[in-house]
Amino acid sequence: MTETLARERICRLGRSLFDRGLTFGSSGNISVRVEDGWLMTPTNVALGELDPAELSRLDAGGNWTGGPRPTKEAVLHLAMYRERADARAVVHLHATHSAAVSCLADVPGDDVLPPLTAYYVMRVGRLPLVPYHPPGDPDLAEAVRRLAGRHHAVLLANHGPVVAGTTLDAAAHAIEELEETARLFLLLRGHAVRPLTPEQVDELRSRFG
Ligand code: ZN
Repeated sequence: MTETLARERICRLGRSLFDRGLTFGSSGNISVRVEDGWLMTPTNVALGELDPAELSRLDAGGNWTGGPRPTKEAVLHLAMYRERADARAVVHLHATHSAAVSCLADVPGDDVLPPLTAYYVMRVGRLPLVPYHPPGDPDLAEAVRRLAGRHHAVLLANHGPVVAGTTLDAAAHAIEELEETARLFLLLRGHAVRPLTPEQVDELRSRFG
């Protein structure tokens, strides 16, 4: 993807996420790997009001080299890219249902959501909970980095999800699937639930990778 196209796609996705209520205020951020570094959404700008000419530019070392100041959550994105050579895009949201699940005391930390649907298994898979640290804290980025080699999706406790993809669409589809599954999970609380069995999950993984 050319840098011009990447800039347009980031802004289009930001607008779409904002318009559908998946992000609000100036929360959430998007990045895309380009030839010599990254494009990233700036700090204190709503994802619904991004300008292709006003995105932050970072070099291959993760240093801010152009455009407005990048999101203070840039370190989360860089932690994902450093452990995932195939990652071309990262999306981070404070989407309501995912954030709600990230505050629950009784979910398993090694895999927060049950395998409720096939598409959740295929697009998200296992979802570890990253212990709470303040936004932008280097310890938070380090905790993400430690999990990122094995997981393209993680859930920050009392905060929200960070998801990497081999394309911007893949990252967006996965984080939206995660948010919808968090919503299903909350809708089903208090009901007898029949998640997919371990055999059904294994079958999906061998069929779809
Ligand atoms: Zn955040």
